Amino acid sequence: MSEARAGHGAHARCKALFERLSEYIDGELDASLCAEIGSHLDGCDPCKAFLESLRRTVLILERTPAARLPEDVRAEILRAAGCIPGGRSASPPGEVRK
Ligand SMILES: [Zn+2]
Repeated sequence: MSEARAGHGAHARCKALFERLSEYIDGELDASLCAEIGSHLDGCDPCKAFLESLRRTVLILERTPAARLPEDVRAEILRAAGCIPGGRSASPPGEVRK
């Protein structure tokens, strides 16, 4: 059983990371930012878990023939994963805004 750490989800660092993770996966970030994210992920389980699910989503999308996945469905999946290509308005998980 893991000890509960109150208020972790409120980390501003994590929110900033979530917005960058898709670029991180694609290798679009510069080396220093990559290293920064990597070291944060090392000590942050929620971020690590989110990265894994995002990676899995990207893999599924890459393996699925485009013909079977219309563009709007693709976008919908990416949006659900918190990863909108070219978008800057992705809301990080844990902060649902209306
Ligand atoms: Zn984190």
